[in-house]
Amino acid sequence: MDFMLPPIVGRRHRPRRSRENRAIVTTASTVLREVFGYESFRGPQAEIVDHVVAGGDALVLMPTGGGKSLCYQVPAIVRQRAGQGVTIVVSPLIALMHDQVGALHEAGVAAAFLNSSLGYEEAADVEQRLTRGEITLLYAAPERVTTPRFLAQLDALQSRGQLALFAIDEAHCVSQWGHDFRPEYRGLTVLHERYPRVPRIALTATADALTREDIVERLQLQEARKFVSSFDRPNIRYRIAEKKEPSAQLARFIAEEHEGDAGVVYCQSRKRVEETAQMLCERGVDALPYHAGLDAAVRQRHQDRFLRDDGVVMVATVAFGMGIDKPDVRFVAHLDMPKNIEGYYQETGRAGRDGLPSQAWMLYGLQDVVNQRRMIDESPAGEEHKQAMRGKLDALLALAEATDCRRVRLLAYFGEASQPCGNCDNCLAPPQVWDGTDAARKLLSTVYRVQQASGIGFGAGHIMDILRGKTTEKVTQYGHDRVSTFGLGAAFSEQQLRGVMRQLIAVRALAVDSEAFNTLRLTEGSRAVLRGDLPVLLRESVAQPGGRKRRERTGSSPGSAVAAGLSDSGQARFAALKAWRAEVARSHNLPAYVIFHDATLAAIAALAPTSVEQLEGVSGIGARKLEAYGEEVIRVLQGV
Ligand code: ADP
Ligand code: ZN
Repeated sequence: MDFMLPPIVGRRHRPRRSRENRAIVTTASTVLREVFGYESFRGPQAEIVDHVVAGGDALVLMPTGGGKSLCYQVPAIVRQRAGQGVTIVVSPLIALMHDQVGALHEAGVAAAFLNSSLGYEEAADVEQRLTRGEITLLYAAPERVTTPRFLAQLDALQSRGQLALFAIDEAHCVSQWGHDFRPEYRGLTVLHERYPRVPRIALTATADALTREDIVERLQLQEARKFVSSFDRPNIRYRIAEKKEPSAQLARFIAEEHEGDAGVVYCQSRKRVEETAQMLCERGVDALPYHAGLDAAVRQRHQDRFLRDDGVVMVATVAFGMGIDKPDVRFVAHLDMPKNIEGYYQETGRAGRDGLPSQAWMLYGLQDVVNQRRMIDESPAGEEHKQAMRGKLDALLALAEATDCRRVRLLAYFGEASQPCGNCDNCLAPPQVWDGTDAARKLLSTVYRVQQASGIGFGAGHIMDILRGKTTEKVTQYGHDRVSTFGLGAAFSEQQLRGVMRQLIAVRALAVDSEAFNTLRLTEGSRAVLRGDLPVLLRESVAQPGGRKRRERTGSSPGSAVAAGLSDSGQARFAALKAWRAEVARSHNLPAYVIFHDATLAAIAALAPTSVEQLEGVSGIGARKLEAYGEEVIRVLQGV
């Protein structure tokens, strides 16, 4: 069965499939079934597992929710069973190691973690178990892995042939082009240099060419086989709307389309996070703030509530989210624009890991463009780096201004060709486009003339006032009512002119001088627009985001989407199972989905089994869970 999967890109260094190899691959499927309770590998998983089990190095690029964990967990178990020792998993996510290891324990796998959250004795205990060969997967932070003390332990394991595999998760952290650069990741080259014969698998959901090359170079993975999956997330609906009254827009979006759903709202600043969380709470949404300015204990508590309770909305800065593997996040909203498409894709990718319909919803306005440009200009980075960041920002701006399929553009950015998707705002409601070239030229002339007349620059509001013929105090004071373009743009609404200005700034035909009170000035690119060589096409200001009717909502309360097909009695069984699961999760101090996914509970509810044997083969029930929970599940069902 494993051999029937379609070939994938990047086929190289294919391990020879000897008879011995074939036996190992069978073991991998057995592990998948027995330990994880899954029937078959997904997409490229089988080939990756096969390659790593056979001792090959691999670089795995797979979108969030694609199933990266199994790509190293299954080989780890197979290699451990073959007497090859422990797999070291390098992960930057200290806060999540507990849950990751907990999930493996639930599946009956000997896993542990080593990080700064452990006390001396706990850490010493883990180290002893490691030495005794009692651990199959050890999760550790990069700064821990590269300490002399830890390396000495690895040396000892290596000398006994007990180092099976290195898995480097979130591998983009090694690259300064990525959005989560961690200098400690650079030190991981020591693994390759010191243990050249131990296979390595590096995994990431970030795939732009620059970051990818950097990962290969920094981690010395030139010889590794590259496994590149499609980055499409078909269950996510992309929507980008003009920012008008962000708070009200967000409140409406949640109330009309995601009542009771778990979601993440990203904001640029801590202050905005606090205000937004409070605004949502006042409207009855179970919202919590998360940013680096909060106490570590508070952050941990909020993260735990988000992971463990149903329907919590996390309002956060980018500090939140890496490695969050909660499967039922129904929406990711951006109140402010991220820095680049990688960041946007990574953040929106946290929605809908379970494959059910989810939404990525972003607001975007002139101020976002100005702020992001300014942050790049003011950053201490070198000119080359700034140029790269500007290019990346431009790509995101083009996505935001686009009037055609968002997904086609997103995937094209990651090097994938595709057809219009039918599941983004532009596909679902093709925007009306109007020709803003005339308005753009008038606007640029005004900027030019005012500068000529007064010898200084002016801000956006003032320029629009002149163009629309408003005699404000400032206009009169500077005599700008005598400028030849005064009143020439009276036919345009302020919103239209804002759109024109935003697009001119986005394509760099107009610049905002952040060092001079955000005044506007012309650029090299202005000339093409003034000459009429560069048409300015704009979307007609479309209906408010979140304006769709309740019955059209794509999201629904957690679990209900997955349980939608159940009969009334099935719904009752599903509800009883969820209540039981919540109790188990609480007593094990783990998120509910670690015990069983919603999809597994729904499958049980539909099956209505009366004996433990009937539970065998339900997706997500491995041998250990069957043994641990089988009887309880049957008892719960008998009580319905
Ligand atoms: P990633 O790390 O790539 O974001 P995960 O490893 O967390 O993704 O997997 C996403 C979800 O898909 C998890 O809930 C996981 O249990 C599930 N999954 C992964 N592989 C399979 C498979 N072969 N069959 C069924 N479910 C799978
Ligand atoms: Zn589309």
